[in-house]
Amino acid sequence: MKIYNTMTRKKEEFVPIETGKIKMYVCGPTVYNYFHIGNARTFLFFDVVRRYFEYRNFKVTFVKNITDIDDKLIEQSITEKIPVSEIAKKYIDAYYEDINALEIRRPTYQSKATEYLDEMIALIKELEEKGFAYEKNGDVYFSVEKSKDYGKLSGRKLEDLKVGARVEENPNKKNPADFTLWKKAKPDEPKWKSPWGDGRPGWHTECVVMSRKFLGETFDIHGGAIDLIFPHHENEIAQAEAVSNKPLANYWMHGGFLNISGEKMSKSLDNFFLTRDVLKKYNAETIRFFFLSKHYRSPIDFNEDILRESNQAMKNLYSPLKETDYLSFIDKKPDYSKNQNELKDQFIEAMDDDFNTAKAIAVLFEIAKSARSSKDINFTHLLVELGRILGFFSYLEEKFRTNLDDISEELILLLIRYRSQFKKNKNWKMADAIRDDLKRIGIELKDTPDGTDWEIIK
Ligand code: AMP
Ligand code: ZN
Repeated sequence: MKIYNTMTRKKEEFVPIETGKIKMYVCGPTVYNYFHIGNARTFLFFDVVRRYFEYRNFKVTFVKNITDIDDKLIEQSITEKIPVSEIAKKYIDAYYEDINALEIRRPTYQSKATEYLDEMIALIKELEEKGFAYEKNGDVYFSVEKSKDYGKLSGRKLEDLKVGARVEENPNKKNPADFTLWKKAKPDEPKWKSPWGDGRPGWHTECVVMSRKFLGETFDIHGGAIDLIFPHHENEIAQAEAVSNKPLANYWMHGGFLNISGEKMSKSLDNFFLTRDVLKKYNAETIRFFFLSKHYRSPIDFNEDILRESNQAMKNLYSPLKETDYLSFIDKKPDYSKNQNELKDQFIEAMDDDFNTAKAIAVLFEIAKSARSSKDINFTHLLVELGRILGFFSYLEEKFRTNLDDISEELILLLIRYRSQFKKNKNWKMADAIRDDLKRIGIELKDTPDGTDWEIIK
């Protein structure tokens, strides 16, 4: 299997540290707001990475953090006039709600930064003792010049960084590129006691401590979106390698952005859609399809036309289940033919090639097509087995149960026939009333050259 490693800028053969086991860490949310659909792209992708490794029989230890102390939480607590701890609680709860709605599986460990303060202080102390960190007026900084090869992940040179960082020059720093390990608390800010006075840890330190705590000094995969390459991951590497002299992770995976009109969707640019709002219009699997039909490293532009198409595409993937009466055979063990095994291999080959989910989805369509034309239940079994790796076909039994029964479907078709009769008679008022009334109860009609389609819009 090959994975693109940001560290070497190459697709590399993936070799785990321990045979059959995978240790991975993905940077999680800073809980000061509801997460947006751009964050969701990254969370969803790594959920698929985890599912795929498990499908390939690896034992995966997956750690994701929650940053529950940070400048942004403090600002939000002032805006909402509630304590920082309540801001954290409110948005952690909301995070889980949205994660569940997206059908993203829980990681093995979901660690909160505020639970590991002792370990963070110990790491900063160790860095100070080893000469990598210095204190100034209650703040502690990491001295980037002490680092052996600072900039190796992002490819940035210390010289250029100095020039860039000068804009926000901080007189406490020896080098403008030095970064904060410990930040002195201002009055009324949340604080922890430390050898340098009351304060809080820096974000970059939080992730180093939590990843090493659960996964050890070196683990297999460290992930996030590309915005984290610099400074966040660069600074994690600098700290971890200063104390261990070993690589923090062997493979660095970074997902592309979800953009909006070519610009990164982000809270600070105020150009975001909240995941919970998008979920009101499109279901989790449609959103998954929308993201996974592109390669994870390519940028994607948020586009509602494509989301609607994704919804239709998911329906097409579901249709063989009904046509082959899958639920009646759900417990039957599949017996794959040579052709079916070849299709399975094609899917695996695509995923083994740096998680080419777009290609993998194309294979799913081929399987669905064969299932529809042959009505061979084994094709449907294969479709579900492989689709589930991408997070499709989850909660199948429940979904089918809430599906329309035959009578409801007949009634919708009947109304569509009446509406076209009204249209023929140029009775636009009645034709529109049928369309609008159906929409109000969650059924949308779409006129196509071949007639009228309908879909449930939730
Ligand atoms: P944050 O809560 O901003 O720290 O981000 C949580 C995760 O979402 C990180 O892994 C980010 O790299 C990722 N992320 C943030 N914005 C986007 C975006 N527009 N597209 C894809 N991933 C993003
Ligand atoms: Zn992180």
